[in-house]
Amino acid sequence: NTITFTIERFDPEKDPAPHIETYTVDVNEGARVLDALHAVREQCDPSLAYRYCCGSGQCGSCSVRVNNEPVLACMHEAYDGMAVSPLNLPVERDLMVEMKSYLQDLAGITPGIFSGYLTMEANEAIRPIRDCIECLACVSECPAIAVADFAGPTAMRQEMRIALDPRDDRDRAALTVDEGLFTCTTCQRCLEVCPKHIAIPGKAIEKLREIAHREGLTIPKHQTVAEMVR
Ligand code: SF4
Repeated sequence: NTITFTIERFDPEKDPAPHIETYTVDVNEGARVLDALHAVREQCDPSLAYRYCCGSGQCGSCSVRVNNEPVLACMHEAYDGMAVSPLNLPVERDLMVEMKSYLQDLAGITPGIFSGYLTMEANEAIRPIRDCIECLACVSECPAIAVADFAGPTAMRQEMRIALDPRDDRDRAALTVDEGLFTCTTCQRCLEVCPKHIAIPGKAIEKLREIAHREGLTIPKHQTVAEMVR
């Protein structure tokens, strides 16, 4: 199969701004976007930069946008005429975006203290929000992160995952209020783009808000509503 498609290219050391390049490559029937990117490197331009690892939808490292929608490049079928661009995050080079600072923030979430075994009931409760692969699609599309101090959808998911674990007894609702729990607008965009279909608004954010309301928490003690919005 021969397909022609575009890629948004950007090398901050050479280019003043991102630009679109068109490539025509030979790929096998049923090729994925990742196969098409490999084909560009092999057949047209070895300097194309992108990330990948497992190639089977389990590691989250190959997320890009196709026609402006976030997808895992290893799972999404390539097609003639597609437009591939980086996630809507700061670009390091071509399709590689800056992930380190966000993943460090995620790692900085107050850890849970776990000892003993997780009960079957708790395991079942956690299951719907457990399978995040840290692809950052939700983070890249979240409008609340763009305008306010908000730790982001998958940080809220992680907090709820720990909150549902009875072995940790920290007040997770209070922590998330300080991380912007009430700045989320429940637009559902994170659910729309999540390759693992994790319902963060309903299964994490609304549940954390219920707990926060029961505890009489609304906005961070040190902030006014006006201060929460940059
Ligand atoms: Fe990706 Fe979904 Fe995890 Fe967000 S919650 S980082 S979209 S897998």
